[in-house]
Amino acid sequence: MSRTHPTDPAPDPRFPFPRTSAPTCCRRDPALFDLASGDLSGDTKDAARGRLEQARRSCSACPIVTACLRWALVNRTLTQDGVFAGTTPAQRCALRRRLADRLGPDWVDVLAARDQARRERAEAARHTPLPVAQARIVHLDRELNGSLRLLPQLTAEEQRLNRSRLVAGLKAA
Ligand code: SF4
Repeated sequence: MSRTHPTDPAPDPRFPFPRTSAPTCCRRDPALFDLASGDLSGDTKDAARGRLEQARRSCSACPIVTACLRWALVNRTLTQDGVFAGTTPAQRCALRRRLADRLGPDWVDVLAARDQARRERAEAARHTPLPVAQARIVHLDRELNGSLRLLPQLTAEEQRLNRSRLVAGLKAA
């Protein structure tokens, strides 16, 4: 069996594999995670269990474990074998059933729609206009100091002077 790697083609584009600059254990040692469900029975049982435990320990220390699990659950056809986020194929099947019970048979679409709504809310929050008083302060600050750039640290006296100018400007506005 060859473990399906997150870089293989045709994952669901709505759920990209999480990026990390950290070298994940499954990339360093893919054989450890290359566990078919059948490996857990028969003569190889003990050895396979040992590998599974080792893979689980590695996943539990992985910085992208939560997003990896989500990716593995959504991309069912790419994760029919192997350990992802510390789960075996059978455990992922059970988790998918629970998601279907909770969110309905189209749970993948529900998750995608939630993600999209979250992204849109975050984007809208970035463009929410400042309250009038804050906008005035920003405007006055630009007039006094020019547009944003790295300024030398102001002395306490300069800060006091700036503040009194800003307050005076606000009163006059
Ligand atoms: S959590 Fe996912 S990405 Fe991280 S080591 Fe485990 S299988 Fe690899």
